[in-house]
Amino acid sequence: MARPPMLPGIRAFLTHCEYNHFHNKTTVYNNADLFVIIRQVILFMVISREKLRSISRYTFYLLFLTAPVFNIFRFDLYEGYFVVFGQPWTLGLQSTEFQCVDTATQVRNLLLNFILPVIVLVVFSILAAWKYGRIYCGWLCPHFSVVETINALMLKQLGRVTLWEKKPAEKKQFIAWLLVLGLCIIIAFIWSFTLLSYLLPPKALALDLYHFELSLGAIIALLVLTSVLTFDFFFARHLFCKYGCSYGMLQSFAWMSNSKAMVISFDKSRANLCQSCDNECDKSCPMRLSVRGIKRAKFPCTQCGICLDTCDEVQEKAQNGEPRLINWVSNKEAVAVDRHAASFDIKRLKKSK
Ligand code: SF4
Ligand code: SF4
Repeated sequence: MARPPMLPGIRAFLTHCEYNHFHNKTTVYNNADLFVIIRQVILFMVISREKLRSISRYTFYLLFLTAPVFNIFRFDLYEGYFVVFGQPWTLGLQSTEFQCVDTATQVRNLLLNFILPVIVLVVFSILAAWKYGRIYCGWLCPHFSVVETINALMLKQLGRVTLWEKKPAEKKQFIAWLLVLGLCIIIAFIWSFTLLSYLLPPKALALDLYHFELSLGAIIALLVLTSVLTFDFFFARHLFCKYGCSYGMLQSFAWMSNSKAMVISFDKSRANLCQSCDNECDKSCPMRLSVRGIKRAKFPCTQCGICLDTCDEVQEKAQNGEPRLINWVSNKEAVAVDRHAASFDIKRLKKSK
């Protein structure tokens, strides 16, 4: 019998309960668990994970585009200092006509205005990645939002997510290619203008652009940036996230160093349910990863959770009443995802002897 449709959030919460039911496991909850469960149910009823991720992505994307315009954050190349929430943010090393800065004050200013904020930011980023992986990439990064947007358009128009995958047989190509390329160029131009406005006063830059009075330097910068970004959006996208982004790499290394970190795990005991499914989770992954593989195979996983939703849909369509086969796990269960390959390899090695 068909299951009634459910809000995705509630479905995600029920997955845990369903899993225990199907495996005849009894769950014992104490008061703290109960509080967590009630909070989760309320949260899920109000807002699902995917909605939460959309809100965080769109908000950060908007912040990225508008931070210089509203003086939230930018570097003023002419004045030679950062502007943070409308206030000049200098290292405080130079004397002004109002204040003479001695060496002790210079050291203190350098510590407070630069070294300490950088240390706090770096430590916080590494700790977050150590525990949750590339959570910044999947939940905030504007580049990953572009990856997802262009992937979706390519899939709709060309029947494949990247240029590097097999062509589908009967797809009309020319208009579709133009559409994808056009979107890449438009986004690349908007990004180039935004990046330039992080360095030059954005309002003056916008007026110059409007009146076609940009300086030669600004024109060259816009052309070069737009070309490079168009190339990235059209050809590279997730490949840049995988191999080109140093912040992404840093997060991945921090994540890999913690075997108990949150990771996508596959329930092998129910692997037979995948037989009727055409690897939908792998196909939906924007990073083109082997979702059911070991942790090392998911080195650049952005924790976007798209694969989880896909498997939910597959199981719902199959109407077999089973919860999805892949889930986020941490601690001991995460260690198992990490170690599986080693034990598997050893078994194979023993057999082959
Ligand atoms: S494996 Fe899943 S969570 Fe990780 S990037 Fe792919 S779709 Fe996102
Ligand atoms: S989407 Fe679910 S059922 Fe399909 S292959 Fe992936 S884990 Fe298996």
